[in-house]
Amino acid sequence: MDLGIRGRKALVTAASKGLGRGCAEALAAAGCDLVINARGEEALQATARALETAHGVTVIGVAGDITTETVRKRVLEAAGAVDILVTNAGGPPPGTWNDWNRDDFIRALDANMLTPIALMQALVPGMAARGWGRVVNITSQAVRAPIPALGLSNTARTGLTGFVAGMARQVAPQGVTVNNLLPGIHATDRAIALDGGVARTEGISIENAARQRMATIPARRYGTPEEFGAMCAFLCSVHAGFIVGQNILLDGGATNLTM
Ligand code: NAP
Repeated sequence: MDLGIRGRKALVTAASKGLGRGCAEALAAAGCDLVINARGEEALQATARALETAHGVTVIGVAGDITTETVRKRVLEAAGAVDILVTNAGGPPPGTWNDWNRDDFIRALDANMLTPIALMQALVPGMAARGWGRVVNITSQAVRAPIPALGLSNTARTGLTGFVAGMARQVAPQGVTVNNLLPGIHATDRAIALDGGVARTEGISIENAARQRMATIPARRYGTPEEFGAMCAFLCSVHAGFIVGQNILLDGGATNLTM
């Protein structure tokens, strides 16, 4: 399917690996020029060059922590007037509800709520003025069904979801769609780190921890960054203009919900 976005310009944050890279790759395959970001310069530039070579588009990498104002400023300067924004950042660490202090909450809110909001506030007005835009926020399955050990993530991402529910309907009249993609477990470094946490807590091997977690998913496997990226690119396509303010779960059926 031609996604109709060849020549569009996209910004994808936290995109040297994992789900962010999956989204960047699918947008590059659809013909978008990209600005991508991650903290580690080497992996970021390697990803930028790999996407350029594979898809013949222009990819600029801007390294730094997207949760800081100075890096956001540099990323936004490099991005300029983008048509497509995909927001992403690392997830907060696991723990127990009474482990976390105010600073932990502020860090989680900065990364997974206030950073995507700041990026949307910076870029959506330009999209609205030009009459076309797409925003996809990478959130989590935890927004639909909380994961007790990821309380910081549950809290921050639910706040972002509430913000998007309102603003998506305010910018839709100007041709800008804003939606959230909710990953269940996907085969990325983050999933391997969480497998490691389960292995340590239960005194089992990482392989057994992964097997246990896969058994909780009706699809009996983890999702892939490629599948995730394909859905992201579809939401950014010309075909998705009537999808507004939705929270789309990609979890292999793991969240046991009727709707
Ligand atoms: P990942 O494989 O660990 O990749 C994270 C990417 O983000 C890397 O490119 C990393 O590069 C970059 N990054 C992390 N923190 C950053 C920051 N502060 N500023 C700029 N770049 C940053 O993670 P993932 O699995 O793709 O997860 C992406 C998001 O989805 C996370 O928020 C995660 O919590 C959420 N999620 C993932 C899953 C899953 O199963 N994978 C499930 C639910 C939710 P650098 O380290 O070099 O910065």
